[in-house]
Amino acid sequence: MERLKKYVTLLFGEQLPIQERFYNFASLGGAFASVLATLACVISKVGTIGILTCIACIAFFLVAFFAYRITKKLQACIVGCLLGLNILIFPALYFTVGGIKSGMPIYFVMGLVFTVLMLDIKPMIVMLIVESIWYILVFRYSYLHPEVSDAIFVMSDEAMYLDQAMDFFVVALSTSVLVKALALCFEYQQKRTNELLKQLEELSVKDPLSGAYNRRFLLRYIESGIAKYKDTRAPLSIIMFDIDKFKRVNDDYGHLVGDDVIKGFSGVLLKSCRNYDVVARYGGEEFILVMPGASEETAYARAEQIRKRVEKASFSEEIDRPITVSGGVASYDIRYQTVEEFISIADEYLYTAKETGRNKIVWKGSQDRKESAL
Ligand code: GH3
Ligand code: MG
Ligand code: MG
Repeated sequence: MERLKKYVTLLFGEQLPIQERFYNFASLGGAFASVLATLACVISKVGTIGILTCIACIAFFLVAFFAYRITKKLQACIVGCLLGLNILIFPALYFTVGGIKSGMPIYFVMGLVFTVLMLDIKPMIVMLIVESIWYILVFRYSYLHPEVSDAIFVMSDEAMYLDQAMDFFVVALSTSVLVKALALCFEYQQKRTNELLKQLEELSVKDPLSGAYNRRFLLRYIESGIAKYKDTRAPLSIIMFDIDKFKRVNDDYGHLVGDDVIKGFSGVLLKSCRNYDVVARYGGEEFILVMPGASEETAYARAEQIRKRVEKASFSEEIDRPITVSGGVASYDIRYQTVEEFISIADEYLYTAKETGRNKIVWKGSQDRKESAL
């Protein structure tokens, strides 16, 4: 059972391109159908020619299947297979089973559908032209020489209708199955592509260590907030955080523990986010929390809340002293010309917080700011 599963995955698994899966399916399916047809010929005592033709079909499909497994040249094998089927086997069967009165013309339709489904555009166009001309010649020849098909196989009216009905059924069913399988594969691949695109999009805007957004996304997001401010005057506040004495954390406990602290701090920030808030890593251990719609006071209150949470948190068992952060809060004002200028206001307040003792948040209304400004 395991082995069978392995072979099924090898021949039809999702790792293979659609065309290859189709080829495997069509060549093995063709061989299997030919085995059934051989048995049917034997049971219904159709005669040696019928049986031999069916056996030739089994051989043909098996050769097609193994030719690809050996050469790995898919388009060439598909062309070979289509030529064999549509130019040789189907027209030969057409003459041997009764010509225009048989069900074989329906197989010509299937041959054309397979050509469209399996080949790339250029070989497809060439093959369609070759096959169409060939079928016209076949029809023309059988019209001019009806005795050729009549001589080999004489069908009663009843047999002729039965043959046509059967052939119609077989061709319609196998073509529908192939088209449905193609549609399912396409749907699946579309879904998978969308998932991968989403992942890619996520990767292009996220910082892998902290899980926060990256600087590129941050600048874009603030820019869109500024545009909204200009339209609606909805406030836009930012808090810029920097971990205090982080160099010492790295020096005393190592870089990996330092990384854990960055991740832990980012986690605290992400948990403090509300609708439309965005956390981004601005630099090494500097983060910016963007709060659209929040006033400076609200942003300051949130910054204080975060500062206290960080002070109480434990980001690594190895660290035996509290980790603290400092922050600067700023709200957008129409006087700021650029995003960078807006960020630099928060940065100045952050600098003041560092200068005046760390583990604190400074904003427009802070005592420290007023002192340092004096
Ligand atoms: P201050 O309180 O003034 O901020 O002091 P500080 O030691 O934190 O000074 P500074 O902000 O200049 O130091 C930042 C340090 O962060 C320096 C750099 O080695 C470290 N760092 C930057 N990125 C990473 C990172 O991804 N992982 C780790 N472990 N360390 C980082
Ligand atoms: Mg620092
Ligand atoms: Mg820093």
